Amino acid sequence: MTSTAYRTHSVEEIGESLIGKSVTLSGWVDRRRDHGGVAFIDLRDSTGLVQIVIYDEEVARPLRSEFVVQVTGDVRERPEGNENEHLTTGKVEVVAKDLTILAKSAALPFQVSTALENESDAKLPGEDVRLKYRYLDLRRPAMQRTLKLRADMLKAARRALDEQDFTEVETPTLIKSTPEGARDFVVPARLAPGSWYALPQSPQLLKQLLMVGGIERYYQLARCYRDEDFRADRQPEFTQLDMEMSYVGQEDVIAMAEKVIKEVWASAGFEVKTPIARISWTDAMNKYGSDKPDLRFGNQLVDLTEYFKGTPFRVFQAPYVGAVLFKGGAATPRRQFDAWQEWAKQRGAKGLAYVVFGEDGDLRGPVAKNLSDEERNGLKAAVNAEDGDAVFFGAGSKESTQLLLGAVRVEIARRQGLLHPDEFAFTWVVDFPLFKRTDDPDDDDVAVGHSKWTSMHHPFTMPSADWIDTFDKDPEHAMSDSYDIVCNGNEMGGGSVRIHRDDIQDRVLTVLGIGKEEAEDKFGFLLEAFKYGAPPHAGIAFGWDRAAALLAGVDSIRDVIAFPKSGGGQDPLTGAPAPISDAQRAETGVDYDPDEEEDE
Ligand code: ASP
Repeated sequence: MTSTAYRTHSVEEIGESLIGKSVTLSGWVDRRRDHGGVAFIDLRDSTGLVQIVIYDEEVARPLRSEFVVQVTGDVRERPEGNENEHLTTGKVEVVAKDLTILAKSAALPFQVSTALENESDAKLPGEDVRLKYRYLDLRRPAMQRTLKLRADMLKAARRALDEQDFTEVETPTLIKSTPEGARDFVVPARLAPGSWYALPQSPQLLKQLLMVGGIERYYQLARCYRDEDFRADRQPEFTQLDMEMSYVGQEDVIAMAEKVIKEVWASAGFEVKTPIARISWTDAMNKYGSDKPDLRFGNQLVDLTEYFKGTPFRVFQAPYVGAVLFKGGAATPRRQFDAWQEWAKQRGAKGLAYVVFGEDGDLRGPVAKNLSDEERNGLKAAVNAEDGDAVFFGAGSKESTQLLLGAVRVEIARRQGLLHPDEFAFTWVVDFPLFKRTDDPDDDDVAVGHSKWTSMHHPFTMPSADWIDTFDKDPEHAMSDSYDIVCNGNEMGGGSVRIHRDDIQDRVLTVLGIGKEEAEDKFGFLLEAFKYGAPPHAGIAFGWDRAAALLAGVDSIRDVIAFPKSGGGQDPLTGAPAPISDAQRAETGVDYDPDEEEDE
């Protein structure tokens, strides 16, 4: 750090090479300790901590935690035995000659001192308090590190994109709605009473227009807005690293994106081996019960539909029966199995059938007695279990049962401590269905269109080559040319080859039940643009908050966002959202009623 009006050095620069030199430092009083006639303060700036020795009691007495001070003093070696090996500056200290209080601090709502670093997070106040005083929370080294890491990731991404000849372009945030499957946030247009802008759910349509506009390789760190119901770890506004390329297909986008991922992870000291493995959506669902499988561990689901084909057990007379192995699970106490039932019920399942393979070779558990002798005898081999294991079952409709078993698979791994945060298992999930049903009760996306089919990604996704001619005849089975990048069970990004031919686009819109007039009204501008020579194009967007959370090893994306919203979209710091005044209502025209206007 270069010297400024307030300092000659940053704290991290204070070391043995400066012994005997006079330095001026500025920062917060992290802690003060008094030792009869001598006071020690830990001075903290964004680079670290250094010990200041103050011999003048008058100077030391008023100092409190988080006062902002400027200290000039001489660097000296710490007396033998007083070194602090936990500090990079721990071999030296600064003997204050002059100390100025630049700002006082009121009594703190919670302890900010770096001493917290060594203690459990339980010492932190609840999240609402942390967010209300986010500026204090941000002073904690853990938060400083994550925000720095996030910035370093972006530098690395820019480097990788630069090397591949990308142009960074900003697209507007006051736009017409983008159909990405969520509700829009809207903004009243004062100058056009009764009209509203939408905030972008993503720059999807705009980046496609950039392709028509000849920006062959575009990227942007884009803020996106989706007005969704509260779900754990979602933010109403979030950031995407958004990319689009012309004259490319799926392979080109994947190769480009892998270079970005490699460089970004390298910026934090991790090597990502490329090419990253791929799995089809169908395989991911069958083997892992998830379209974003966590591949840090194995334990694939076992399809037992065939095995239980003639079962006398009513519950297993279902379109799909599957199982997941709980290695060593036989030792689980009964009440924990009961807790698993609760866990499953919270996920909307009826319960979770299981059997236990006792060490004595015995088959136990509530389901065991319902099975035929033959089923009981063959089960261990069918699910690849050994004595001492347990097995959970799911039975019902295929997709929802697989999703339940997929969640069980992850929960078992979590309880067995297999989810290591510094291990990164990437995979591409490819060959997604083009459409999904609108009547799926587990899906809270907003349907684009009015038929029983909506887009799995968005309406501009290209059907896969095999389906170009037939996708509209068999929407249920049609596949798309799209891909997701998944890391440790999180969808870190996704994209697709886009439709650039209006005949295909028309047919997709027809399947979605979007008529000509509605299409014209909603995204006529894009369809119009496509009439003037649209190059084939494809792209992808990374969820940047999620990528940062993964790399920082934190569970919540709120921990990598400087000022996140809490549950329900509230901002405890500023109090947003808040009512507006009557004057503002009138001015912005939010209550504008066209009928009233006509009456006058
Ligand atoms: N716009 C898409 C999304 O937000 C990403 C893409 O297809 O490039 O998910």
